[in-house]
Amino acid sequence: MSDLTQNIKRLTDYLTRFRTDGVQNHIAGKTLSATSGKVFDNASPVDESHICTVAQSDGTDIDAAAKAAKAAFPAWRDMPVTDRRAILHRIADGIVARAEEIAFCECWDTGQAIRFMSKAALRGAANFRYFADLAPSARDGQMLPSPTLMNVTTRLPIGPVGVITPWNTPFMLSTWKIAPALAAGCTVVHKPAEFSPLTAQLLVEIAEQAGLPPGVWNLVNGLGEQAGKALTEHPDIKAIAFVGESRTGSMIMKQGADTLKRVHFELGGKNPVIVFDDADLDRALDAAIFMIYSLNGERCTSSSRLLVQSNIADKFLTKLKARVDNIRVGHPLDPATEVGPLIHKTHFDKVVSFFDKARSDGATIAAGGERVGDKGYYVRPTLFTNASTDMAIAQDEIFGPVLTAITFDTEQDALRIANDTPYGLTGYVWTNDLTRALRFTDKLEAGMIWVNSENVRHLPTPFGGVKASGIGRDGGDWSFDFYMEQKHIGFATGQHKIPRLGA
Ligand code: NAD
Repeated sequence: MSDLTQNIKRLTDYLTRFRTDGVQNHIAGKTLSATSGKVFDNASPVDESHICTVAQSDGTDIDAAAKAAKAAFPAWRDMPVTDRRAILHRIADGIVARAEEIAFCECWDTGQAIRFMSKAALRGAANFRYFADLAPSARDGQMLPSPTLMNVTTRLPIGPVGVITPWNTPFMLSTWKIAPALAAGCTVVHKPAEFSPLTAQLLVEIAEQAGLPPGVWNLVNGLGEQAGKALTEHPDIKAIAFVGESRTGSMIMKQGADTLKRVHFELGGKNPVIVFDDADLDRALDAAIFMIYSLNGERCTSSSRLLVQSNIADKFLTKLKARVDNIRVGHPLDPATEVGPLIHKTHFDKVVSFFDKARSDGATIAAGGERVGDKGYYVRPTLFTNASTDMAIAQDEIFGPVLTAITFDTEQDALRIANDTPYGLTGYVWTNDLTRALRFTDKLEAGMIWVNSENVRHLPTPFGGVKASGIGRDGGDWSFDFYMEQKHIGFATGQHKIPRLGA
């Protein structure tokens, strides 16, 4: 039996439970349908077949989940931190033990290739371990003595929080947001994306099997404008950690205004990879290809704009085209597959619409630019050349395996083009000129920049974007800053003079 046939067989076993019961909510330790009894259908992008139904929750379910999170909060906040740390490590153990099931379900639900999803499942476990070990320092503060006072600061968890996640690598992203919230001592209501709900249910079950008390983590499935909106408006929810599109972030900010929600937004990107003529061009080529065509290009940090210096452009683009033509598109569970199908018909239509836009704007489709097969949402990895910065393909987040190449002459041109989008998530700079790298990274408008490297995530570093790419940072202590409130306490050190009124 081939690896693919074996993997499909094992996937069928993993899906049985979802086929029987559908994806359900998990509130106060109980697995439940939506109160209304409503469901929506979830299909696989691989062959458009029905996977299961999903609970279509509304404000009533969100209210039950928020109340459960509120009730569970004091005990979770006050649990000895070493116990909390132990539970989080056991969640990581549970993820590792079920990594194949998680990865296979994720592939089938999202179309992502197994070569990346098996690592994404393990990264989820690493997120839990990292924040488990940081938990004992979460409440640490400063001592800021003044002439009359011993001022100390500490941090306290903000309370029940809402976590709203997108459909791209949903498992990994959920762990990335939820692990620090739990480590900080917050309780959680999670609303996963409607296009990719499977692994969120596995995750909450793993957490409770690991000893997480009921109500600490609640899962509510549903549509963004219904369940998601209700979560952002709920008075018991103190903060919303959101990953998704920039325009949804803007809606959430409005929806949360009446209840003064604290928000953390990780939003879209149109990230440049800038290749100067003095760079190690072979490594730059590998990294540029990896950062746009891995994960189907459905990646917020993808290098979707290639800015290449004109004097090396012909050679670089010729090699690039040959590699792009060679990328293996196929079934996500085939270990040889490099690019799988796009998540959903709606997203597929959006990505495909850019092929026409590229043509009508006068760019060249040097590779791809067409769908693959007639079942499932496959597109051929695509490269646009002869593009300019004002074209839609250079401005809009396409979020597929689609790269727009633009040439530049000087460093000033490169900087102008690189900064010429509403977004500012990441940038990748390839040069062996150190002073240029320093100059350029200083002026590049991005929250995260890698020089002579692809994106290599290091959990203690700040993750997030500027401009329309986000508000706030994840990673290390930055995550705790979001999920916790600062408190200052001043202790008088003597009998200092207190102003006397009415004496
Ligand atoms: P989306 O904004 O459409 O949906 C994200 C989540 O928000 C879903 O769970 C959805 O149901 C919910 N939602 C939708 N409308 C809502 C509303 N009015 N109120 C509350 N919740 C609502 O995003 P998507 O299409 O699922 O994900 C892709 C986007 O996510 C891309 O733009 C990508 O760049 C971005 N992303 C950013 C990062 C980052 O770290 N910056 C990481 C991953 C993805």
